[in-house]
Amino acid sequence: MDHVVVYVDDRLADVGDTISCEGHLDITTYELSDRSLELPHGMDYDLVLTNAGEGILATGILRAHVVATCDRCLDPAEFDVAGEVDEYYLFHEPDVGVMEEDEEEGPDYSLIGPDSSIDLADALSSAFVMEVPFVILCKEDCAGICPVCGENLNHVDCGHAELLRQESERERMESSPFAALKDLNLDN
Ligand SMILES: [Zn+2]
Ligand SMILES: [Zn+2]
Repeated sequence: MDHVVVYVDDRLADVGDTISCEGHLDITTYELSDRSLELPHGMDYDLVLTNAGEGILATGILRAHVVATCDRCLDPAEFDVAGEVDEYYLFHEPDVGVMEEDEEEGPDYSLIGPDSSIDLADALSSAFVMEVPFVILCKEDCAGICPVCGENLNHVDCGHAELLRQESERERMESSPFAALKDLNLDN
């Protein structure tokens, strides 16, 4: 994601000062692990920047409409994302030990640049990623693809599902402990 730079100016000079910060990002695709997500309307963010003393707090919402591929049937899957942005940009590197660092994830803050700039890109990006579901479905009850013939079961009823169901029902009956009873010759 490209830089999304805002400058901390006089409007944020004093503790408690706030400004609103809205914007549109013309991002058409977002690569997330092995997925390619289409963003036909880009991303929109609506944030409030607050001078919180030690730094600038950026809070608000990131929205996007996503077109992806259903994990079950490979049809297009569309959904809206509304991710919460909550990021703290410090004026100065904190004293060692004041803030606990997570060794794996690195420091839990960002720094305001020497030119008083804040780059919102990472915060917006993670707000987006947090809200993209791990499993993407075209609809909650997507029927998926027939394992026998490969038809999309949302559109076509090829009949294989019913056959498979009957087969597994028969197997279940045959493996039941009572199945043996019907073979007993009670006359002996
Ligand atoms: Zn589907
Ligand atoms: Zn089938």
